[in-house]
Amino acid sequence: MEKINAELTGVKKIVIAGHIRPDGDCVGSCTALYLYLKQNMQRLGLEQVDVYLENFGVEFNILTGSDEIKHSYETDESYDLFISLDCGSIDRLGNAIKYFDTAKKTINIDHHISNNNFADVNHVVVDASSTCEVIFTLLEEELITKEIAEALYVGIVHDTGVFKHNNTKEKTMMIAGKLISRGIDFSSLIDESFYAKTYLQNQVLGRCLMESILVLNGKVVFAAISRRMLDFYGAAFSDLDGIIDQLRVTKGTEVAIFLYETDFHEYKVSMRANGDVNVSKIACYFGGGGHIRAAGCTMRGSVHDVINNLTFHIEAQLQELGVM
Ligand code: AMP
Ligand code: MN
Ligand code: MN
Repeated sequence: MEKINAELTGVKKIVIAGHIRPDGDCVGSCTALYLYLKQNMQRLGLEQVDVYLENFGVEFNILTGSDEIKHSYETDESYDLFISLDCGSIDRLGNAIKYFDTAKKTINIDHHISNNNFADVNHVVVDASSTCEVIFTLLEEELITKEIAEALYVGIVHDTGVFKHNNTKEKTMMIAGKLISRGIDFSSLIDESFYAKTYLQNQVLGRCLMESILVLNGKVVFAAISRRMLDFYGAAFSDLDGIIDQLRVTKGTEVAIFLYETDFHEYKVSMRANGDVNVSKIACYFGGGGHIRAAGCTMRGSVHDVINNLTFHIEAQLQELGVM
C-alpha cells in the first residue's frame, strides 16, 4: 500500500477500529486516521466516517477527536470499508468484528510480528515502532494538521516507551521530528498521557511492586493482581498500564511478567524481555501474540499454574541462549 487515499475509490462509508483494551498506539492511530478522513471528507468523496474502540484510559481524552470515538456497538451499520489498526488478529477486534464481517472491503494496518493478515488488504510493517508510525507514512504529509500530529505522536511515545525501546529507529525519530514541526506541545503530551498517574494508579502500582516475586534465579520477575484486589482499589484494567514497565527495569531480570485477573482463574498476561528471550513466541504458543520483546496472551488457571507454564518456556529459551 502506498497512500491511504488510493484505497478509497468508490468508498463512501468508512469504519475504523482497533484492538480490545486499547493502548496509546491504538487510540492514537485510530484518532489520527479518523481526524484525517474527517478533515478531508469532501476531497476524498466520503459521506461517513465512524470509529469504534472499547473504553480506554482517561489520559487519552487530551486528544482532539477522541471524544467522538464510539464505545457502544449497537447500531447495525454496514460500511464500504473497514480499517483495522494496531490489531494482530481478527479475534482481537472484539465487538467491532460485526462491522468487519459486513464491510465490502477490509484493510489491516499494523506492526505486530504475530499479525496473520486477516483482511483483504494487509499492510503490516513489522519493523515500524508503532501503528502510528505506519499511519504517518500512509497520509499525505501536507494534510497532517496539528491535531493529527498530536495523536500520532502520543501513539509513537506509548509504543516506544518514550523513544526508549529498541523498536525506536532513525525513521521513528525523523517522523517524530516532523510531528514536532507541526507545533505540538510534546512535553505535556508525554507527561499527561504517559507519566501522569492518579493516586489510585500509584497505589496499585506500589502494591504490585511490593508483592512482586523473583523466580528462575532472579532472571524473571512477576507480579499478579486478583479481581478481589482490583475491586478493593476500585481499579479498572486501564489503571494497570505501566506496571509491567516498572517490573521490567528490575535489575538482573531477563523477563518481566504481569498478570491481572479478568475472570475467575483467567489472567491477562503481559511479558517484556530485556535480553534475547522471544516473548512473542511464548505468547503465540498460548494463543496470544505481540512483538519479540513485548507480548501478551490470556491464560487460565491459578497464578501458580500460569507462572509455571510461562517460566517453563522462558527457562528453555534461557538455556538455549546460554544464559542459564
Ligand atoms: P501488553 O502486554 O498487553 O501491553 O501487550 C504487549 C504487546 O502484545 C502489544 O503489542 C499487544 O498488542 C500484544 N498483545 C497483548 N496481548 C495479546 C493477545 N492476547 N493476542 C495478541 N497480541 C497481544
Ligand atoms: Mn496496541
Ligand atoms: Mn502498537
